[in-house]
Amino acid sequence: MAIRRSATKRHGLPTTVQLRLTPTQAQADALAAVVLLCNQAATLISRLAWQHRVFTVLELHRLAYYEVRGQVTGLGAQAAVRAIARVAGAYANRRAGKKRAHIFRPHGAVPYDARLMSFNRDARTVSLWTPTGRVTLPYTGRPEDLKAVDTLPRGEADLICRRGVWLLQIAVTLPKPVMREPVGGFVGVDQGVANLAVTSDGAVLPGPALPGPIGGNGHARTLRQRRHRQRRRLQKKGTSAARRVLRRLAGREHRMMTDLNHQISKYVVREAERTGRGVALEDLQGIRGRVRAHRLQRRTLHGWAFAQQITLTRYKAARAGIAFVLVDPAYTSQTCPECGCMSRANRPARDWFVCTRCGLAGHADHIAARNIATRGVTGWAAINQPHATGLPSARRNRESKPPPSTGGS
Ligand SMILES: [Zn+2]
Repeated sequence: MAIRRSATKRHGLPTTVQLRLTPTQAQADALAAVVLLCNQAATLISRLAWQHRVFTVLELHRLAYYEVRGQVTGLGAQAAVRAIARVAGAYANRRAGKKRAHIFRPHGAVPYDARLMSFNRDARTVSLWTPTGRVTLPYTGRPEDLKAVDTLPRGEADLICRRGVWLLQIAVTLPKPVMREPVGGFVGVDQGVANLAVTSDGAVLPGPALPGPIGGNGHARTLRQRRHRQRRRLQKKGTSAARRVLRRLAGREHRMMTDLNHQISKYVVREAERTGRGVALEDLQGIRGRVRAHRLQRRTLHGWAFAQQITLTRYKAARAGIAFVLVDPAYTSQTCPECGCMSRANRPARDWFVCTRCGLAGHADHIAARNIATRGVTGWAAINQPHATGLPSARRNRESKPPPSTGGS
């Protein structure tokens, strides 16, 4: 699920919980009417906004409020206000790229704010505004989601019907967890193409450590290779039907990679939490402009997936109160973690590392992950000893990039 933007972001971590509503048939009809009505209103406001080139909430309110309330029968005052804000939000980021008015899908999710819904914690019911009056609906959910809704500050919610099931997705703000010192060092994670991630502990991911249908790493790789061949074949064909299939495959592959990244980051953060360590990954943004392209940059196919894994790991680490650092990626796969010898000759084969000085041998990705773990320790120390490095406030810079490490590179 996407991480929602939240007004209370500064005070903690935003996240989304999902409740399942159990309406009667009459209530379900009322909810269906809300969805149609609100999306119709939003599309109408959006057309007005586009026509008059008016995109801020305030101006849009002046322009569209009475118009939309006149044209969309049953739309209450508060629902009209919400719809205006929603349209302004839709144009806020993407206006420049749009060629015509934004259309809201008739059955798309409808946002509810605090004035359109109220919760009864003890009865486990939520009261939602509909054009035919408020409906009070019982809800169920995972125990952790129910607890979150009961105890955490709530933001906006989305009402959505998915395959006939009514859901309420609510933004909540998690309290800022207490940051724990990484007493046991860092878990280093090497990102790659053959293996999406290898940890300094030697875990190859995805692999048997992860749950789910794609158990072994071999399976995931085979899937990716099959997709790759399929894509090549379809690209050669070039018909419009082939292009359609290509788009569908891209969506499927995107979802598979996202799912794997979620599982990998979850596993890594849990391992770090369990062993009192922090998490270190390579900083892929700082590698532009180097003489030789970094090994991850040369493979552009899944560039977004590497960035996504960093984002997800950072978020999950913050949520768990675990130290997270990005380290300098230079020569992590050519440096010996035992003696510090750095040489291209340390890599006799693509997947294999043998130190020319001390003879240490191992899988190249595992060696790289060990170097990343070591750099995590030095990077963290640099961030948290402001006097030694001249960096400002330690706490504020906990997640920022450490200075380029000098040891071994
Ligand atoms: Zn060595």
